[in-house]
Amino acid sequence: MVSFRLCDEKIAFTYKFMKLSEYFLPVIKENPKEAEIVSHRLMLRAGMVRQLGSGIYNWLPLGFAVLKNIEQIVREEMNAIGCVELLMPTIQPAELWKESGRYDAYGKEMLRISDRQEREMLYGPTNEEIITDIFRKSCKSYKDVPKFLYHMQWKFRDEIRPRFGVMRGREFYMKDAYSFDIDEKSARESYFKFHAAYLKTFERMGLKAIPVRAETGPIGGDLSHEFHVIAETGESALYYTEDYSYAAADEMHKPEAAPEGVLQARGIEVGHIFYFGTKYSDAMKAVVRNQDGQENAVHMGAYGIGLSRLVAAVIEASHDDSGIIWPESVAPFKVGLINIKSADEKCVKICDEIYAKLPSCLYDDRAESAGAKFATMDLIGLPWQIAIGPRGVENGTVELKNRRTGEKQELSIESAIAHVS
Ligand code: ATP
Ligand code: MG
Repeated sequence: MVSFRLCDEKIAFTYKFMKLSEYFLPVIKENPKEAEIVSHRLMLRAGMVRQLGSGIYNWLPLGFAVLKNIEQIVREEMNAIGCVELLMPTIQPAELWKESGRYDAYGKEMLRISDRQEREMLYGPTNEEIITDIFRKSCKSYKDVPKFLYHMQWKFRDEIRPRFGVMRGREFYMKDAYSFDIDEKSARESYFKFHAAYLKTFERMGLKAIPVRAETGPIGGDLSHEFHVIAETGESALYYTEDYSYAAADEMHKPEAAPEGVLQARGIEVGHIFYFGTKYSDAMKAVVRNQDGQENAVHMGAYGIGLSRLVAAVIEASHDDSGIIWPESVAPFKVGLINIKSADEKCVKICDEIYAKLPSCLYDDRAESAGAKFATMDLIGLPWQIAIGPRGVENGTVELKNRRTGEKQELSIESAIAHVS
């Protein structure tokens, strides 16, 4: 019997149904010593990631499933504002970076490599140069703009201090989008379309993300916002008022300009958007003709989201002493089905029946103790748990638990299924 079904609609790359005996979920009981923050600890314990080298991680099936769900939410919100997906390579030739002037400016964070012909190459830390090159080769007229393009790709930055697991990795997964406009006015409108899309994106992941004015740094430009999730373990200091009228990251905070009673908190940067005008298009001669036939440098913006960092940020925002609590929108499976007595034929039969009817399920069919199974389910944080034992089988009932509230209900099989569907 095939115990899994390939997902049908949205989540194209991960399983919606799985028996734990056939899955790969290497959970760890003890707290790993190397993990300083709760998300890192829980990602290791829940068998989501394993470190391969400093700041470089293997994504195991459970972590990979969450990453794909986060990716899909971002994809839907990008597509919704007319941003078009493409894919650029991880390895880039140095020439384009010399053209923009950033090859030397970028410094030691850039991983520089050379091929067998001794051509200078690099592992992309970001993609402004590549996308500008793509644009300038094909788009020449005011009719070609506005244009929004994005991709999701692994980046490498040789961070001086990789830490906190995937929160600050060296290899990490990012969605980066780029906008091209005829002039500043239109470019600013584009910028605020992304700004609004970002708020929606993070909200769909169950996160409250605060946009704060930020410095543009090596990307350049004059308008920039970072999106921060409040968490004690966040690396950035934030200053904001209750209604975020005032909200600034550390570098931009001006105590004399801040209103009275400004609040202070730590934040995790999950997104960063920039309008940088013609910085790259001037240097790389990306021009479009206007209606009068005059050539002008195109106005650009860049919009990043830390996809792999978000997996950790969601955990920082949503967990308890027993483990992770996934918001339904990013959960690797919706329901954890627990067979309390896997040697009991009647229990197996009922579990198999329920398994076939649930919307998305990880079924713990292993010959483990009930206690161990409940602890694993709490640790991996699926939104719902359905437990079935000999007593319930006699009464035709199951126990349904809401992972977030801890609330348990004794329900008939049908109403439990209806409840989670
Ligand atoms: P940070 O200030 O955290 O170093 P950044 O300003 O260098 O980030 P951007 O260039 O704005 O980062 O990249 C876009 C997004 O990619 C960031 O908002 C963040 O969520 C994510 N990101 C950046 N660096 C890392 C990293 N080393 N590990 C994981 N995610 C990262
Ligand atoms: Mg930033």
